Amino acid sequence: GCLAGTVLSACNPGTTNATAPSGSTEQKADSVLALMTLGEKVGQMVLYNGSWDVTGPATGTDDRKKLEKLKKGHVGGMLNVTSAANTREAQRLVMENSRLKIPLIFGYDVIHGYRTMFPVPLGESASWDLELMQKTARVAAREAAAAGINWTFAPMMDVSRDARWGRIMEGAGEDPYLNAVIAVARIRGFQGDDLSAANTIAACAKHFAGYGFAEAGRDYNTVNIGEHELHNTILPPFRAAADAGVATFMSAFNDLDGIPASADRKLQREILKDTWNWKGFNVSDWGAIAELIPHGVAADKVQATGLAVRAGIDMDMEGGAYEEALVQLVEEHKIPENLIDDAVKRILRVKFDLGLFDDPYRYCNEETEKQELYSSENRQVALEAAKKSIVLLKNNGNILPLGNNIRNIAVIGPLAGDKDSPLGNWRAQAEANSAVSVLEGIRNHAPESCEITYAKGADLAAGTRNFLSPLDINDEDTSGFAEAVSLARKADAVILVVGEDAFQSGEGRSQADIGFAGVQQQLADAVTEANKNTVMVLMNGRPMDITDSAGKVKGLLESWFLGSEHGNAVGEVLFGKYNPSGRLPVSFPRHVGQEPLYYNRKSTGRPEGGEQVTYSHYTDVANDALFPFGFGLSYTHFAYGNIQLNRDSFTTGGTIMASVTVTNTGKMAGEEVVQLYLHDEVASITRPVKMLKAFEKIHLEPGEARTVDFVIDEDMISFYTINRKWEAEPGRFRLYIGSSSAETDATSFEFRSE
Ligand code: BGC
Repeated sequence: GCLAGTVLSACNPGTTNATAPSGSTEQKADSVLALMTLGEKVGQMVLYNGSWDVTGPATGTDDRKKLEKLKKGHVGGMLNVTSAANTREAQRLVMENSRLKIPLIFGYDVIHGYRTMFPVPLGESASWDLELMQKTARVAAREAAAAGINWTFAPMMDVSRDARWGRIMEGAGEDPYLNAVIAVARIRGFQGDDLSAANTIAACAKHFAGYGFAEAGRDYNTVNIGEHELHNTILPPFRAAADAGVATFMSAFNDLDGIPASADRKLQREILKDTWNWKGFNVSDWGAIAELIPHGVAADKVQATGLAVRAGIDMDMEGGAYEEALVQLVEEHKIPENLIDDAVKRILRVKFDLGLFDDPYRYCNEETEKQELYSSENRQVALEAAKKSIVLLKNNGNILPLGNNIRNIAVIGPLAGDKDSPLGNWRAQAEANSAVSVLEGIRNHAPESCEITYAKGADLAAGTRNFLSPLDINDEDTSGFAEAVSLARKADAVILVVGEDAFQSGEGRSQADIGFAGVQQQLADAVTEANKNTVMVLMNGRPMDITDSAGKVKGLLESWFLGSEHGNAVGEVLFGKYNPSGRLPVSFPRHVGQEPLYYNRKSTGRPEGGEQVTYSHYTDVANDALFPFGFGLSYTHFAYGNIQLNRDSFTTGGTIMASVTVTNTGKMAGEEVVQLYLHDEVASITRPVKMLKAFEKIHLEPGEARTVDFVIDEDMISFYTINRKWEAEPGRFRLYIGSSSAETDATSFEFRSE
């Protein structure tokens, strides 16, 4: 082992199998820290973008400068370097040239898969299947780790209630509890039980905090939320992530009530590190420290650096602020060195936990890379996840599943044959056009006797499509309509695939209009007019305004962006090989003007229901959602018995058991998501009309009944009260158990504190 005081390079001479210092992670981090110069310490706090090919010659001045810094050991990690070969080369530059040979950490946005794509996070959240989400994160981690990555910038756990915000696709929707449990499942999937295994990677809780509340849904925009809202709605998923041992956090771009999150000492240091006692490291979002300048709270990088370091941001992602200003600030005693030491120790601990000091190349294995990426086992998991994420929103006359009597199906729409959009945005290293299209999936799963015809009808987006380019939407060309309409007329049923291009949602993809872009609405109208047996399959990353079409079509299937196996999953559902079980993790509005729209709203002082019109409402659109949170149909029917409580009150330390019997009264096996909601009738601050507090996804054979039990305890009713404390208040609670947030059957219980 390597002892404190020994130069690390002396006991770490080779390029592989370096001997690590011994002792606890804490002692090891201390012993390395003791060897470091100020320049080396600050270097650990710098995260470089490395999308240039590190294996090739560095050409630009910028690249050359970066290479020199790497060799000097003045860089802590890199993002966007992918493949075992490239990460090995970058790591080698550090291991063979730097004094202390502190390995780099390699970060990447592994958001919903690495090469094999799973549904976009919002879509996968519709599965309400935590085991599944843990499993897909596990597979994503295995693939990424095989390609040299040991850190993902995921999961995003920003509660988001505004469909205009393009990044709503990247989280678990509008509910704090659902976001929290899904975040924990994903973290477990990425990090596994042992972070040092060569196939587990560090996760990142992002964006801390409030990013999903961007005003008017415009990305990066200012956020105004009060203290209670912050604690009760925004922070719970982050608290759960910290408690679950997430290795890293990422500070958000936005300002919160006047303080940019990346300069918010109360949030980043006091709450996260002091109160929650979290030990990982906190990275800024891309350039977010330098962005303190345009935010208008710092004049230059020196000031920005001072604010961010004091706030508790441990690593600067590609912002150049720490790199430029931090050494000088410490030397001039403007920043105490112990703040730097704390930041560096946090980074070193994660590197030790990842096993990088034992073998800096452990994640660079070309053999594993070949076997792991896009393997058929991984594709199987992608298919399972895709099926379980589909939500059946309408099924008039049981048009679905399509029966064997159907002789002719017309598949129509700009997204029907699309093999690329199903991959969604934030697609990591997915190969373009590699997904199974809906058309292919229908062909794979339709009975042989059934004829499938296809017409695109119109283009949605043309030209360059990627993360950064603006989209070129087709607003004019309807020349394909005639063919589509003629096929629709001749068919027994139409499958109409419309929605969004993959790059309509995601970062920087806010929209004021969340209806169908381009000529899609006209196409949908023409097709539904031509054939009454139309099933609309939506492909999208956000709730859309589909009010017009939802009234006209017979069947409506929400398929999000389901990833590599999109089409096969849709095919299985359309033909009844899988009974849809997804439930919406976000409300679908009747009109974009309702946004932000969410079920767990507050009651006002003007409750609805009287003769008067002077309550909180619009004169032209109803208040409620077109499709509410938690909603989704099945090919079978689930009947709920009455809620049984084992007692009607409890006291400190006690519990109540709430039970309900659910019966599958239909003819097909299926899965139901049994959802429990609470309402706190009188509290010290206003509380939501309903809050999801527990759920269970159960499988029932036809005729089968199951009793589901939920334990109600103090934790479940606690919140951030008027005392600025997380606590349970005595009083009465309404309890709903049912199949969506629109459930009205309720009972009640009391909590008495002692
Ligand atoms: C995003 C982050 C992401 C980072 C690195 C930023 O623009 O906001 O979520 O992890 O880029 O790609």
